[in-house]
Amino acid sequence: MSRPCPPAKSSRPANAPSQMASVAEPLVPLEPSGRYRLSRWRAEFVECDTEQRYRGHVEASLAVYVSHALVVWGVLWLFFGLSDYYQFGLSFMLGCAWAVRLTLFCALLAGAILVRRRPALATSGVVMTAAMLLGMTSFFGLYFVSPDEHIRWLAAVTMTLIIELFVLLPNRVIYTVGVAVYAIVGTLVCVAINISETTPLRMIILAELLLIPAISGWFAAQRFEITRRREFMALEQAEAEIERRTALEVQLQNQALTDPLTGACNRRAYASAAQREMATARATGRPLSFVMLDLDHFKRVNDTHGHAVGDAALVATAELCRDVLRSCDIFGRLGGEEFLIILPDTDHATACGVAETIRSRLAASGRVNGAADLRLTATLAVTELGPDDEHLDDVLRRADAILYRGKNAGRDRVQTA
Ligand code: GH3
Ligand code: MG
Ligand code: MG
Repeated sequence: MSRPCPPAKSSRPANAPSQMASVAEPLVPLEPSGRYRLSRWRAEFVECDTEQRYRGHVEASLAVYVSHALVVWGVLWLFFGLSDYYQFGLSFMLGCAWAVRLTLFCALLAGAILVRRRPALATSGVVMTAAMLLGMTSFFGLYFVSPDEHIRWLAAVTMTLIIELFVLLPNRVIYTVGVAVYAIVGTLVCVAINISETTPLRMIILAELLLIPAISGWFAAQRFEITRRREFMALEQAEAEIERRTALEVQLQNQALTDPLTGACNRRAYASAAQREMATARATGRPLSFVMLDLDHFKRVNDTHGHAVGDAALVATAELCRDVLRSCDIFGRLGGEEFLIILPDTDHATACGVAETIRSRLAASGRVNGAADLRLTATLAVTELGPDDEHLDDVLRRADAILYRGKNAGRDRVQTA
């Protein structure tokens, strides 16, 4: 008769450990903190993996922010077209200025859409750096079309722009530093070309003035980026700790319900599983069988090969049994070299077949842990749940008596009554 596996829920206690659970697993270690080293200069994690994880974590929100920033920037850029009108009047220059503004606005808008479609571009810094370089280059164009008195204004506006690059426009700090250097050098070159009475002293003062917003902007951006990465680090460490504790809890639960040597259910686990299976069998009228397995002359195995080989033989026997059994069967260690197998939804004849499979495989199995001449055999007693069995002990008493008969009959056998 086939033995379809009944649903695991009905055949095993909710808290029963997995048959295969290993109790010797080491505890999950805490994350080493070296993975979270931060470069103060770049305001990024030194470890590429950690930095990538951080970027993945902020990608979606940063993409939205970058996209909004680009649109606002584009609108402001268009808005300043009003001052072009007052500066150039209705002229060819006004047409050129507006054309440049419109082109930049469209480029920024395209960047905003692109970054929403491919959020990774926001964290890599590609789109923002390109937009900043384009914006700065367009801004430099104003030096070439403005009168001298306006050029001094433009230099002052550049100082504000440099702060803005760092503080308002999200980008990788290291790239923004590059754009700021471009802005400072470009401004100095534009001023030198377009203002007639420049002196070295004036140029030095201008350079100093431009460096002030660049340095303070870098400080602000660096502090912000480092704080955000520290928050991420705290979040990851908290998650790792929760995971570690959950694993520890599972491990402790398994330890409380399994035999440490063989991984079989311990008394607490198999007794509660048996109670449940007996109740289910009575309620459903389905058969329930029990097999008691006792290794033959195990004392001799210990005496001849040593306790360590004896232990290995117990582990090997447990593994062999688990190989034969279904996931819904319950495999427990009664103590010493005795095991109990509970077979839900299995009648006596089928249980005898299972016991015989285990017996023959054990007898045929070769060496255990290097002990070539070690031949393991077992005597197995099979019994089915009867109408008078109230508790597991009633079944065990009967199985014990059957096993005793099997031992007396010569061992290495399946005894059925
Ligand atoms: P029988 O065929 O009648 O069952 O003989 P036996 O020698 O197997 O039975 P007995 O009860 O006399 O001896 C059981 C031996 O199992 C005694 C003990 O040293 C050994 N044993 C019990 N638990 C362990 C264990 O965890 N590891 C090892 N290596 N040996 C164990
Ligand atoms: Mg024994
Ligand atoms: Mg024995």
